[in-house]
Amino acid sequence: MSARPNPESAEHVVVNALGEFLASPPAGTPGEIIEALTLMAGNAADPLPPRLFFEAVEQAPSAISITDARARILYVNRAFELLTGYTREEVIGENESILSNKATPENIYQHLWRTIQGKQTWTGTLVNRTRQGGDYLAELTIAPVLDQGGGLKYFLGMHRDVTKVHELEGELRRQKMRIETVLDAAPVVVVLLDAEGRVLLENQACKKLYSELGGREPGEAFSAALREQVGLDPLVECLSGRAFKDLEISIAAPGSSGPRWFSCSGTPADELDPSARGFFGRQKKGERRMLLLANEVTARRREIERAHLENLRARLAEQQLTHSLHETMAASIYQIQAPMNVIQAAAALARSGSASLETLAEMLEDISRSGTKALDTLKAALPEGPREPGVMVNVNELLRQVLELETDRLLAAGIVVDWRPSHLLPELPGHKDSLRSLFKHLIDNAIQALNESGRPQRDLLLATRSVDGAVEVAVQDNGRGIPFEDRFRVFEPFYIGWRNRRGRAGMGLPMAQEIVNAHGGYIEVDPDYQDGCRIHLTLSAVPADQ
Ligand code: FAD
Repeated sequence: MSARPNPESAEHVVVNALGEFLASPPAGTPGEIIEALTLMAGNAADPLPPRLFFEAVEQAPSAISITDARARILYVNRAFELLTGYTREEVIGENESILSNKATPENIYQHLWRTIQGKQTWTGTLVNRTRQGGDYLAELTIAPVLDQGGGLKYFLGMHRDVTKVHELEGELRRQKMRIETVLDAAPVVVVLLDAEGRVLLENQACKKLYSELGGREPGEAFSAALREQVGLDPLVECLSGRAFKDLEISIAAPGSSGPRWFSCSGTPADELDPSARGFFGRQKKGERRMLLLANEVTARRREIERAHLENLRARLAEQQLTHSLHETMAASIYQIQAPMNVIQAAAALARSGSASLETLAEMLEDISRSGTKALDTLKAALPEGPREPGVMVNVNELLRQVLELETDRLLAAGIVVDWRPSHLLPELPGHKDSLRSLFKHLIDNAIQALNESGRPQRDLLLATRSVDGAVEVAVQDNGRGIPFEDRFRVFEPFYIGWRNRRGRAGMGLPMAQEIVNAHGGYIEVDPDYQDGCRIHLTLSAVPADQ
C-alpha cells in the first residue's frame, strides 16, 4: 500500500490536480494531452500509485505547471525548469506572467483568460522569456481543474518551445515565395500535376491562360491536345518515368482569331516521402508528378503559315502570268499566220507577173492591217514593269539570297561556287526585287554557259567590293565564254547566242543593263578574261529614283 501524499506537498498538488483533471477533462482539451496524462496516471481500472504518477509527471518531456485560480504557480516539473531556466524554488508562488516577455498582444491574454475562466481549455502561442533573457515561442495549453462544487481550483499549464518550428515554417514560406517569384517571372506556362491530373502548383502565366481559355484548366487542355494531335498521353508517359520535349500542339481559344500554338515539354517529378520513416533514408517510393512546361509559339506559327501562303500566292501569280503569256503568244502566232500567207501569195503573184500594181498594193495593205492587229495583241499582253519603293540595300545580302534560291540548280549542274563578299560594303539606295532579278539572271546565264561548255570542272565566282563609295560585283564562270566581237551585241535586244535557245528571248542582258542603269551604274563583259565569261557591274550611291 502506498503512503498518502502530504496535502502541502508538490506530489499532493500534482496527484490531486491531475486526478481531478483526468476525472472530467474540460471541453477543448487536445486529445493527445489527455492521452499523455492518462498514460502517466495509469488506466482507470488499475491506477498507478501516487508516487509513480508524480514521478511520471516530473520526468515528462513537456514543461508542466500547476497554478491556483489566479495563475500563482504551485508546481513546475523538471522540463519546465530546463526550458525556462527558473528553478522551482524561484517560481513557486509567482504568477505565470513571470514568463511573459511583454510582446504578446493584450487581446491574446484577454482571450486566454475568458476561455479558462469559462472553464474551458485554451491552446495558443505566446512569446516567453527565459530567466537568462532569451525569447522563445511557447505553444501553451491551459486546462482548468474544478473542485467538487464545480468552482475553479487549479490551472494545469503545459507548454513547449516551438521557436524552431516557427523559424522553419518562416523559411519554408520564404522558399515558397522565392520559387513562386521565379516561376511567375518565367514567360512559359508551368504546371505541376498529380497522377490524377489535378493541379498541385501553377505559375502566373498558367493562371492567365486559364482565364483566356474561358475557365478551362491549361494542364487538362494541353494533355487532351497532346493525346489527340500527337498521340501521346503526357500523364501516362511521365508516370512511367519518360520525359517528352518540344511537342507542338494547338488549342482553340475563345475570342482568338485562330488556334493558339504551344510547344510542350513534360518531365516526371518524384516527390520524397515526408513521413518519419524517411528520416533514415528508408522512405517509401514517393508519389510521381508531372511537371508540364508550355511555351506559346503562335506568332512563329502564324509567320510560317503567312510565308507559306505568300509563297503559294506568288507561285500562282507566276503560273497565271505564264499561262496568259502562252495564250497571247499562241493567238499572235495565229494572227501572224494570215499576213504571212498573203505575203507568200503576193510574192507568187509578183514572180508570175500576173498581178497589177493595184492588186499588190491592196495585198500589202491587207498584210499591214493584220500585222498591226497581231502587234496590238502582243502589246496588250506585255506585263507592266513592277514598281517597288527605293530602300537602302545591302548587295551582299541580296546576292546571298539569290545564291540560296539557286542552290538546287547549282548543285544539279555540279558547279562549285566561290563566294567572296567584301566585308566593308556601303549600303546603297536601290530596288531590292529588281536587283535580285538582275543577279538571278546573271547566275542563270553562268549556269547555262557552264552546261553548254561540257566542262567537267565547273566554277562560278561571285565577288563584291567597294570602289569609291560604289559597289562593284563580278560574276565569273569558266563556261563557254562570249566571243570578243559579241561583247557589246549581247546587250542588244533579241540577240541570242545560246545553242539551246528554248525559253530565251534575248531580252535578259538588255533588261539587266536597264536595271544597272537605273541604279546609276554600268555593266560590261570583261574583255581581258579568256577562260570563260566575267561580267563586271557597278552600282553607284546615287539615289535609285533619280
Ligand atoms: P496581466 O495583467 O497579468 O494580464 C493581462 C490581461 O490578462 C489582463 O488585462 C486581463 O485581461 C487578463 N487577466 C490576467 N489575469 C487575469 C485574471 N486572474 N482573471 C481574469 N483576467 C485576467 N503568460 C505568459 O506570458 N506565458 C506563459 O507561459 C503563461 N503561462 C500560463 C500558465 C497558466 C497555467 C496560466 C493560468 C496563465 C499563464 N500565463 C502565461 C498568463 C499569465 O498568468 C498572465 O496573464 C500573462 O502573462 C500576462 O501577464 P501581464 O503581467 O502582462 O498582464
